[in-house]
Amino acid sequence: MAVLPIYLYGTKVLKAKARPVKELNNNVIKLIYDMVETMHVANGMGLAANQVGSLQRVVAIDISEVDETDRKESKQQLKMTSPDLPRKVVLINPEVLDREGSWKMEEGCLSIPEVRGEVERAEKILVRFRDPNFEVKELAADGLLARVMLHEIDHLDGILFTELMDPAERTPIKSDLRKIKEGDVETSYPVINTKEE
Ligand SMILES: [Zn+2]
Repeated sequence: MAVLPIYLYGTKVLKAKARPVKELNNNVIKLIYDMVETMHVANGMGLAANQVGSLQRVVAIDISEVDETDRKESKQQLKMTSPDLPRKVVLINPEVLDREGSWKMEEGCLSIPEVRGEVERAEKILVRFRDPNFEVKELAADGLLARVMLHEIDHLDGILFTELMDPAERTPIKSDLRKIKEGDVETSYPVINTKEE
């Protein structure tokens, strides 16, 4: 396993659309292990392959360390993820088949350090994906799990959470985004900025 550098806001790979994984070969298996390791080292709840410079439709999620009852986690109370749902999941070629309801929550992103913003997303989703054994699965997810899935699946389509924010709320973060683009940001994990891409 290896910790991979995380591509920062402004790099081209974050705006690219990732391609479906055709087969589970050694490269994909290594990518999954490395993504999980990288996500843990960077203290993230989720990571999409674009964020480590790979355009394969792979997402890793781990919300097991999040206390979903902790209101200090965001301005709003977190919507609870149903207890029977997994907290750790790897999604290959995920597709959102259905969306229901909506709620707002403040989000952050390992590719956009120190920036946070409120995003409206569906409350419940139905997702079809292949698991790490390349078997097709369907999962009805809600609460934080659904939100993280939607955030990560957006990454695979080149969409960042800042683009989904209310335009008025985007204005104050513009200077922070410019700083990240210029490489003027400190992180506790290895990164690649626009000058290094
Ligand atoms: Zn992100």
